[in-house]
Formats: sequence, C-alpha cells, structure tokens
Amino acid sequence: MLDKVDFIVCLNCDSPCYFFEYDAKKGIVSAFCDVCGNDDPIQFRPPSDDEIEE
Ligand SMILES: [Zn+2]
Repeated sequence: MLDKVDFIVCLNCDSPCYFFEYDAKKGIVSAFCDVCGNDDPIQFRPPSDDEIEE
C-alpha cells in the first residue's frame, strides 16, 4: 500500500481525480470524480507505478 498518492484513478471513466481522502492503512476512504460524478470509493484505484511521475 502506498503511503501517499497525489491522485487516484476513476475506474468508471479512467480519469485522474484529485478530490479524495487517502489513508495509508485503509486505502481510498472517500473520493469524487468531477468528470463523471462517481463518488463510490470502491470505484477508484491508486495510480500504478508507471502512472506516477517523479
Ligand atoms: Zn469518473
């Protein structure tokens, strides 16, 4: 599990989302996609390694 993420990815529309709450132990606690309106934390995922640019 990542300690911290800068964004998460909406599984519904595959867009990066910046409105979310992330807990290092619990993962995505709450999230909102302003592209499609998805607000179900289950329907988001953390970015994969190759999506994270240092
Ligand atoms: Zn979305």
